[in-house]
Amino acid sequence: MPADACEVPSNLIDGRPLPAESGQTLPVLDPADGQVFTRLPRSDARDVDAAVAAARRAFHGPWGRATAAERGRVLSRLAALILQQHEALAQLECRDTGKPIQQARADITACARYFEYYGGAADKLHGESIPYAAGSTVIALRVPHGVTGHIIPWNYPAQIFGRSVGGALAAGNACVVKPAEDACLTPLRIAALALEAGLPPGALNMVCGLGVEAGAALAAHPGINHISFTGSPGTGTAVAQAAALNHVPVTLELGGKSPQILFADADLDLALPVLLNAIVQNAGQTCAAGSRVLIERRIYAQVMEALAARFAALRTGPGLAGLDCGPLINARQLARVQALVEGGLADGIQAVARAQLAPEAPAGGFYFAPLLLDGVPPDHAIAQQELFGPVLAAFAFDSEEEAIALANGTPYGLTAAVWTRDGARQLRCAHAIEAGQVFINNYGAGGGIELPFGGMKHSGYGREKAFEGLRSFTTIKTIAISHG
Ligand code: NAD
Repeated sequence: MPADACEVPSNLIDGRPLPAESGQTLPVLDPADGQVFTRLPRSDARDVDAAVAAARRAFHGPWGRATAAERGRVLSRLAALILQQHEALAQLECRDTGKPIQQARADITACARYFEYYGGAADKLHGESIPYAAGSTVIALRVPHGVTGHIIPWNYPAQIFGRSVGGALAAGNACVVKPAEDACLTPLRIAALALEAGLPPGALNMVCGLGVEAGAALAAHPGINHISFTGSPGTGTAVAQAAALNHVPVTLELGGKSPQILFADADLDLALPVLLNAIVQNAGQTCAAGSRVLIERRIYAQVMEALAARFAALRTGPGLAGLDCGPLINARQLARVQALVEGGLADGIQAVARAQLAPEAPAGGFYFAPLLLDGVPPDHAIAQQELFGPVLAAFAFDSEEEAIALANGTPYGLTAAVWTRDGARQLRCAHAIEAGQVFINNYGAGGGIELPFGGMKHSGYGREKAFEGLRSFTTIKTIAISHG
């Protein structure tokens, strides 16, 4: 099915496609040309109320009564349905987010893999028994939270939907999702497929709309028992504050300023393409983008020359053209990246190399060609803030201690990479770096369904992905039996 043939997007509440109670809609823009191509329901607290009520009924009804094996089978069937519709979903993701089609295809594969992984894991999650007083048996059950809220960003709509909702449903929760207003068409389509896979109505509800309206209503809703949020630190704070008033636990994934440390003994043939991809992938709009490269001074000039050549050869254009880099998500994001970069250049930071804008890129698209920067002071905004654009800042270091200090010298701590053949140094650095994931001689910006993922410091707290993500969607109920 081509993306243009998609149905009018709607909310999904209690298994039914519904418009917003307000009757209003929001425009959805194609980032490749800036044109409106469909509209979304502009939901508010009334729609969120209805979705939470439907989820509560499902949790106390058929979904709550389903065995772990039955839940797993539904998710496995959903994974298969996603793969059956793989190309149509990838085309839709490409148009909605602007990302190159090959990236969109990889994202849909990853989304299916989340449901496959959590489908398989559903009946392998169990509690434990605990030795206690004589004549007693104590069981710690792993139970679902109940109704979970999911606030999803626009950068990886399908993937983040899969990792968050996949884990929550496998654990037995019923979900209410507020996808991002900028890109949410694939999660809506996949939620409809979940019904086809046998998910009971109400177990998964979708409420579209603005963050400050539908998102804020979900975060503050007293009927929610857990919230999973991925997005900006400021919004994460607002979500956590709203949830705190209801004493609701929150998982926050808030982005990063991830360093790639390149020692002089690194295998450069292996490292350079990975370094480049880590910042160009998804036009740098990746929470785990490798946005800082720290290079040992002995090889600094050589590496910068090689990186500059690779940057200059990159092509930016519409996602469907399948080039190296697509547009940014919207005009606001483009203006933000441009302003930060222009501010940096005015402060004396040097633009070393710039990618090309392909001639087929339409004039109204939100394009920012990948850029390599040198001479960035470590305390500059470009070194400290998440740009969320394809901009790589390079820094030189002389010692391992200096590299670690630079790596840890931002408010963030999401992911990092260390490139060296020295085994002891690999482990010393991995222990010293403040990050939720450290890669040695490889890097997976956003990848790794099986790898626990989440931040330290301002990158957030809690873990998603992997079995750890499944545990996050449960709580412990202890049953202590005295039997003599
Ligand atoms: P955002 O954090 O505002 O939006 C993320 C999600 O939160 C969206 O679904 C949005 O509708 C929702 N939201 C917004 N305000 C809300 C509120 N008050 N209550 C509840 N939900 C709310 O991000 P943005 O404004 O789209 O992007 C701004 C910056 O955030 C980017 O430049 C980037 O640095 C960062 N970001 C990070 C990630 C990530 O993966 N970590 C994803 C998106 C954006």
